[in-house]
Amino acid sequence: MLKIDGLTYTYHAKSTPCPYHFSLKANKGETVGILGESGSGKSTMLDLIAGFLEPHSGDILLDSEALLALPIEKRPVTILFQQHNLFEHLSVKKNILLGISPHGKSTPETDEKISEILEEMGLAEHLDKLPSALSGGQQQRVALARALLRKKPILLLDEPFSGLDRKTRLEMLSLVQTITQREGLHTIMVTHETEDCELIADRVYKMKNGTLLPTNPESLQEKA
Ligand code: ADP
Ligand code: MG
Repeated sequence: MLKIDGLTYTYHAKSTPCPYHFSLKANKGETVGILGESGSGKSTMLDLIAGFLEPHSGDILLDSEALLALPIEKRPVTILFQQHNLFEHLSVKKNILLGISPHGKSTPETDEKISEILEEMGLAEHLDKLPSALSGGQQQRVALARALLRKKPILLLDEPFSGLDRKTRLEMLSLVQTITQREGLHTIMVTHETEDCELIADRVYKMKNGTLLPTNPESLQEKA
C-alpha cells in the first residue's frame, strides 16, 4: 500500500500554516483519481511524491518503506506530464531505452521488450521516428509505453491525456487501468475530467485549497 501521511509544503518559506497538506492511500493495483480546480495544488502534490519538491513534514510510505529518505533518482516512481515527456532529438526507441536501461544501452532483451510494448500499443512502425513525426496522441502513447515498461510501483499521471481527443483518451485510460492491475502498481491520476475517475478510479479525492478530501466515486455523477 502507498500511504501519504500529512505531507505539508509551502512555496513561501515564511507562510504559516503550511498551505498544502496532503494525505491519501492507494492499495496495490489501484488507481486513485484526483479532481480539483486549477491552482488547487494537484501538481504540487505529485512533485512532492516524485521528489522534485521537499515537504516540510509528513511521510510517504510504500509497503512501510519511507520514500522521503530516497533521492529523486532512487524513488520507485514514474511521472507523466501533460506534455514534454519525450526528448525531441531522440528516436522513439531511444526515448524508451533511456527510461528502462542504465545509460540507455540497447541489448537484445531491451529491444524485445520495446518491440513488444510498441506492438501492444499500435506503435510498432514508429520505432525509429523522432517525436515530432508523431501526433500528440502518439507521443503520449510512447511516453506511456516507457512508463509502463519501467514498472516502477508508483505511477503519477499529471493530466497527461487532457489534450487528446476523447477516443484516444479513453484508450489510454483503459491501458493505464489494465497495467495498474496487471503489474500491481499504485497509480495516482490527476485529471479535470470527472469521466476519467468514473471510468477507472478505485478511489477519488477532491483537491481544494491544498487539501485532499476523500469523495465517494458513486456521487461524482450527481455532482458533475
Ligand atoms: P494545480 O496542479 O492543481 O493546478 P499547482 O500545484 O500547480 O496546482 O499550484 C498550486 C498553487 O501553488 C498555485 O496557486 C500556484 O500559483 C502555486 N505554485 C505552483 N508552483 C509554484 C512555484 N514554483 N512557486 C510559487 N508558487 C507556485
Ligand atoms: Mg497542475
